[in-house]
Amino acid sequence: MAEEELKLIDEKGIRNDGRKFDELRPIKIEAGVLKRADGSAFLEWGENKVMAAVYGPREMHPRHAQDPSRAVVQARYNMAAFSVPDRKRPGPDRRSVEISKLMSEALEEIIFVEHFPRASIDIFVEVLEASAGTRCAALTAASVALADAGIPMSDMIASCAAGKIGGKVVLDLGKKEDNFGQADVPMGMVPTTGKITLLQMDGNLTMEEYKQAMELAMDACKEIYKIQRDALKRRYSTSISTFEETNDMEEE
Ligand code: UDP
Repeated sequence: MAEEELKLIDEKGIRNDGRKFDELRPIKIEAGVLKRADGSAFLEWGENKVMAAVYGPREMHPRHAQDPSRAVVQARYNMAAFSVPDRKRPGPDRRSVEISKLMSEALEEIIFVEHFPRASIDIFVEVLEASAGTRCAALTAASVALADAGIPMSDMIASCAAGKIGGKVVLDLGKKEDNFGQADVPMGMVPTTGKITLLQMDGNLTMEEYKQAMELAMDACKEIYKIQRDALKRRYSTSISTFEETNDMEEE
């Protein structure tokens, strides 16, 4: 189907799903959802649903893969077979290996890996429902799960994509926009410092369009960062109130 036939964006700049050019899909994050993980987060981003679980720091196996000077960060991104309308073949493929690698490299930038020689820090991300932008959702959820696990790190990474549809630069491409649009630029950054930890581009943009896309995505990352922090605040304020309730009961 040609992009023009689909009309991804109208004359007033309203997109197929009713969003403005600079509007994110709704994002919800809940931290600490898995009991057996050291840290976890469940994230809903539009129609994406993603679970992140962190284990470690723990002794790295196999031993020959240990690094005596630092921890090895191992992220594994997996898309469930039932996460997309056309069932995805289960197991790793080139795409999931690529996303796992770029997540590991991005997260290494924020974790104090030198504190944990010979250890591994394992991050598993399961995409339960996918509708474009899952690598950004995965990296955003993984950051919250790492913070929930209490892994020493400099800050969290927020991640978001911008791109181009119908000749216009827009934020956070949805499924149709990703499939039939002209460009998609997923990026991740540490919003407090502006450090870019992930940057990819699919399609073509002029230098001016690229700058616009980056500005949109960087502003959005600041918004996402607030949602990440709020999830952690909710998680730990709940624990405190539960703690207080338990104490009250014991005193009675
Ligand atoms: N997708 C799919 N089957 C696959 C891989 C991807 O249906 O095997 C869909 C899925 O909805 C995904 C979207 O295509 O979110 C875009 O995939 P892309 O590789 O651009 O990564 P993403 O945008 O999810 O980071």
